[in-house]
Amino acid sequence: MRQLSKTFADGEWQASRGNRTLSVLDSATEQPMAEVTLGSAADIDTAVRAAHAAFPAWSRTTPARRAELLQAIRSALAERAAELADAITGEVGMPAKMSRRMQVDAPLAILDMYARHATAFAYEERVGHSRVLREAAGVVGAITAWNYPLYLLAAKVGPALAAGCTVVLKPSEIAPLSAVAFAEATVKAGLPPGVFNMVIGTGEVAGEALVAHPLVDAVSFTGSTRAGRRVGAVAAEGIKHASLELGGKSASVLLDDADLPAAVKSTVNMCFLNSGQTCAALTRLLVPERLHDDAVRIAAEVARAFVPADPRAEGTRLGPLASAAQRERVERYVARGDADGAWRACGGTDRAGLPATGYFVHPTVFGRVAPESAIAQEEIFGPVLCVIPYRDEDDAVRIANGTLYGLAGAVWSADTARAEAVALRMRTGQVDINGAPFNLEAPFGGYRQSGVGRENGRWGMEAFLETKSVQYPRKA
Ligand code: NAD
Repeated sequence: MRQLSKTFADGEWQASRGNRTLSVLDSATEQPMAEVTLGSAADIDTAVRAAHAAFPAWSRTTPARRAELLQAIRSALAERAAELADAITGEVGMPAKMSRRMQVDAPLAILDMYARHATAFAYEERVGHSRVLREAAGVVGAITAWNYPLYLLAAKVGPALAAGCTVVLKPSEIAPLSAVAFAEATVKAGLPPGVFNMVIGTGEVAGEALVAHPLVDAVSFTGSTRAGRRVGAVAAEGIKHASLELGGKSASVLLDDADLPAAVKSTVNMCFLNSGQTCAALTRLLVPERLHDDAVRIAAEVARAFVPADPRAEGTRLGPLASAAQRERVERYVARGDADGAWRACGGTDRAGLPATGYFVHPTVFGRVAPESAIAQEEIFGPVLCVIPYRDEDDAVRIANGTLYGLAGAVWSADTARAEAVALRMRTGQVDINGAPFNLEAPFGGYRQSGVGRENGRWGMEAFLETKSVQYPRKA
């Protein structure tokens, strides 16, 4: 078992001063993969001071040099792609093949993208007699969730470094292995000491110390709405900009002329991706009343093909959840759905038939779900789909917009213009029409309690740049 007892600051691995440890457990075998010494506020202080000291020189490097170093980090990580995919499969439970594509190749593509944006970004423009400059914001405190550990890291650290900021990362203590690999890659790439620093620790201790630290200029957080609220409040105390990427309860709206089997199948796939542990998962399927029962039957049939199994075995489509706590949470919601009278078409909380070890749950489909019920309102973060009948398009839009969240969504129709009209009425940061693929260059982020700010594409750079205007005397 690996011992992770060090933090990474000023280009070196330094003994952590925390006195608590935590085992990182393999979600399928329940065996420890690593033991982490949880970093303290003193470790955060050391890391932040290193980032602060490195900022003046790093922010003055040319965009071309920053792009070169991002590419070098990307190459160092790419050499370890297979090992990283396997580690994240262990931490999170995503089936191996998918893990390679989504947990490793996608983050590498993000680093590549920000190497390009580093040089392509318009850092200045002329406005009348003013020169308007975009300058690096300073030291960034980055905090990530466990469900896509390397992806979330890349979506913050990539643009922050591209913009000329220095970074202290606090990865999720539940899935820290790829962050350790990233720190190692920065050494191999020759990134100057102090530009990237990392402390593994809990949110309450290391996370809050990072957000509150007076030398941290900007905060970028991904996690639950509950923790995001706290991070936003602590950042506000220090008058710091905080980008918040939070939870979701995204709706897939099936219009009455849509290809029903294709739309239902794709929604189930998007709901069950990474065992439902995806912030943008399409967890509510909204269907016209007259198509409802057919939709539920198709969804249950598609769901049954997601057989819970060893995520490292060839052909597995549904791995375990990341932790025992996550499994309990999902089972609690399934029991709540039963208690609230939803029609459970498949799945449930009986663990019979599941692999003997691993944090597995059955994929579950509920029909006739009341839009105001807990399972239709709250983020479950497991393979649980809620099918909700609607009367007409206005009713569908009302239900789609009827949660506190607004992260993603989907619309299905034979008529693209009709789908688009509904998409434009949805109060959410992203909407996919007829199964359109994800676009890394497009902004991603939430309305309402799904967050503040946007990641990806050139919008991902914005959080890490201040704006300065310099005025010149008018000619007489
Ligand atoms: P979490 O909120 O428990 O933890 C997220 C991170 O915040 C962890 O690193 C944790 O240690 C830290 N943290 C917790 N409390 C903190 C505090 N008071 N101060 C500072 N840091 C603190 O979330 P999780 O369980 O790791 O992740 C799942 C959640 O993340 C889901 O709600 C999911 O929707 C959300 N998420 C959102 C996006 C997005 O882009 N919108 C992407 C992935 C996950």
